[in-house]
Amino acid sequence: MTTNSSFSEQLLTWFDQHGRYHLPWQQNRTGYRVWVSEIMLQQTQVVTVIPYFERFMERFPAVKDLAQADIDEVLSMWTGLGYYTRARNLHASAITIVEQHQANMPKDVEALIALKGIGRSTAGAIISQAYNLPGVILDGNVKRLLTRLNAIEGWPSQSQIDKQLWHIATQLTPDQRNADYTQAIMDIGATICKPKQPLCVACPMQGQCLALAQDKVALIPTPKPKKVLPHKTISVLLLKNQYGQTLLEQRPSKGIWGGLWSLPEFSDLKALQTQLALNGLPTKTKPLAPIKHIFSHYKLTIEPHMLVLNSSPHKVAENSKSQWYDNQQLHTIGLATPIKKLLEKTP
Ligand code: SF4
Repeated sequence: MTTNSSFSEQLLTWFDQHGRYHLPWQQNRTGYRVWVSEIMLQQTQVVTVIPYFERFMERFPAVKDLAQADIDEVLSMWTGLGYYTRARNLHASAITIVEQHQANMPKDVEALIALKGIGRSTAGAIISQAYNLPGVILDGNVKRLLTRLNAIEGWPSQSQIDKQLWHIATQLTPDQRNADYTQAIMDIGATICKPKQPLCVACPMQGQCLALAQDKVALIPTPKPKKVLPHKTISVLLLKNQYGQTLLEQRPSKGIWGGLWSLPEFSDLKALQTQLALNGLPTKTKPLAPIKHIFSHYKLTIEPHMLVLNSSPHKVAENSKSQWYDNQQLHTIGLATPIKKLLEKTP
């Protein structure tokens, strides 16, 4: 196990020469800014996050601005970043911070973990990066680095291995320069100990890396056991009225694309046509090219069908929240990404 007390010193020396100091959330560091950046950075690369972070901070510069915002606006600022639960949790937690913490970001791990959407590693990143306290982090990049350094085989999210990695990460966390250390360990994982073709020759840890010594770098970390993703097909109705507007429905707050706007959805074309007939609308629709979308737990094929009306019915499905939108309004609402792309290429 890597317990060398000089680990953090070596890492910080590397960071002083090669680390990233100019990321927007490293300027004017506050708990709120670091929190938002950490949530955006989950499953998403730094270069993608930067423009989203800057726009988000311009619109919601403080936690109370976010708490007071309409969730629809928050989701629209998130459109394209994916994993929208992150945005809903961010908004819900901003409200909790205002109501229960007098709009001050909590400074201890337990209080942070009690907020929606903040796990142990994110809490550690917030307290180390915002307050320079010894917060322990174990995100995907750090897991990869630690499993290789210690030649730990087996899928890292397995509970025994996860526990072992938390223990190692805690042992290695220094008592000072915590903000730099956290950035350094994330940076080295992201830029040197990369998933594929890690740059071992440039790595300050190469002398103590067991995976390198045992020629197992390409085998560690052990990938997650594969399971075949189920496949689902749905039909959606692209309905236009006499003004060229599109009928959109707001999805329920739970489930995929929760709270986002999308097209009326049906299990298949027959169900779509039945609903049109029930509303006294024409049932002859024009099929558009199918769209494929992959979620973490299933694959989805969307079959769009277009219908142009010379009227504006309020809705096509019962119990749905529907509204007609002009093309120019579409960027002001949170839209499911594949639907946004479809609407952009459909006049
Ligand atoms: S030597 Fe290579 S595998 Fe080992 S920690 Fe460094 S980059 Fe990762």
